[in-house]
Amino acid sequence: MGRKKTVGSSGKFGPRYGMRVRRKWLEVDKVQRAVYQCPTCKKHGVTRAASGIWECGKCGAKFSGGAYIPVTSAVSMVETALKKSGERENV
Ligand SMILES: [Zn+2]
Repeated sequence: MGRKKTVGSSGKFGPRYGMRVRRKWLEVDKVQRAVYQCPTCKKHGVTRAASGIWECGKCGAKFSGGAYIPVTSAVSMVETALKKSGERENV
């Protein structure tokens, strides 16, 4: 099947991280760079200002959320995925 080599932001983590963890990190990277819908003005302008801090570029609203995604349920999903892959790497 698809044996594509994905380079990209996973490169910065170096060889001490396994492929599975790297792939998970790629996903996290993707979601934390995405622009989310603002709960205040409903426009898509929310970007990550800092870890757990989100800011809307349209109306300037600032709010706290997950470290990677403003929606907490999605955060726990990602964190669970990361934990799982981390466990597998340590076996
Ligand atoms: Zn807004």
